[in-house]
Amino acid sequence: MLIVMENTATEEQVEKVVRAVKARGYQARPIPGGERVSIGVLYNKGAVDASAFLGLAGVKDVVPVTRPYKLVSREVQPEDTYIQVGDVRIGNGHFTVMAGPCAVESEEQTLETARLVKKAGAQIFRGGAFKPRTSPYSFQGLGELGLKILARVREETGMPIITEVMDDNTFDLVAAYADIIQIGTRNMQNFSLLKRAGRSAKPVFLKRGLAATIDEWLMAAEYILEGGNSQVMLCERGVRTFVHHSRNTLDLSAVPVIRKESHLPIIIDPSHAAGRRDQVIPLSRAAAAVGAQGLMVEVHCKPDEALSDGAQSLYPNQFEELMRQVKAIYNVHATGNDF
Ligand code: PEP
Ligand code: MN
Repeated sequence: MLIVMENTATEEQVEKVVRAVKARGYQARPIPGGERVSIGVLYNKGAVDASAFLGLAGVKDVVPVTRPYKLVSREVQPEDTYIQVGDVRIGNGHFTVMAGPCAVESEEQTLETARLVKKAGAQIFRGGAFKPRTSPYSFQGLGELGLKILARVREETGMPIITEVMDDNTFDLVAAYADIIQIGTRNMQNFSLLKRAGRSAKPVFLKRGLAATIDEWLMAAEYILEGGNSQVMLCERGVRTFVHHSRNTLDLSAVPVIRKESHLPIIIDPSHAAGRRDQVIPLSRAAAAVGAQGLMVEVHCKPDEALSDGAQSLYPNQFEELMRQVKAIYNVHATGNDF
């Protein structure tokens, strides 16, 4: 349930409502909005008696929240969430492109790729230091050395860094270097990791699980918000289907559903969806057209020599082309917003 306060409500009135909610054994979560504060009522097992709150000073309305996810839902927060990372804004009318190699392999490879993607217009640099690989014999990432290389990239290029955290043990280490913490597909329902991310002050990029429904994905995001961290963005990166023409199937229909259901930004990763570079530019155009708020794209300075995901990594000149095309598509339906 959501208690909507008048736009003239005072802090004391909000506080009093919070106390009234808690007195009934529930949790209260004030949610500041553009015009007014709302108070989410959480942990109620059944219906809550609205009349107990309707009479309190400063209360405008009491509305039921019909979805199983609460804090991520548009019912609770109608306005888009935006996330500010340094000078870069994600969501709320902005289109943000994150690009870089699948994995940090060396300082030279990472810096060279970073300079190239920045020149082409990428705003955020991606690169994995801890890699979740299907085979234990595949390159597992450089670990902390990879994080140090990413920090050097940030220093030199000014681009904020997004990198994946794989487990609770390395959470603090990754969070110390990353500007955005990525939780990968295979960890979407790693609940202890989600809870840890909920206690973090860093923005979180939550990828959709390989076989997750949208409800399950939003419930995973709910864990992070429930833990106290409201800076969450969602990433659709393809789900497992029966096809052989791509690694996964990019579920573009998830974008309008997420935009309707949730206030969180939604980013598309065409690289892991496709698994092959010839599909990445067309899928990126589609992402911009369908209303995604950004892209995460794998780019490598020498894809043929990549230690992971070379086949889906764009050559730098292809990434330049992607940026040109995506900008053109985005500007067709954008209404006075920047890219
Ligand atoms: C990645 O982005 O590096 C990655 C491993 O992606 P996913 O979790 O989508 O497989
Ligand atoms: Mn990859």
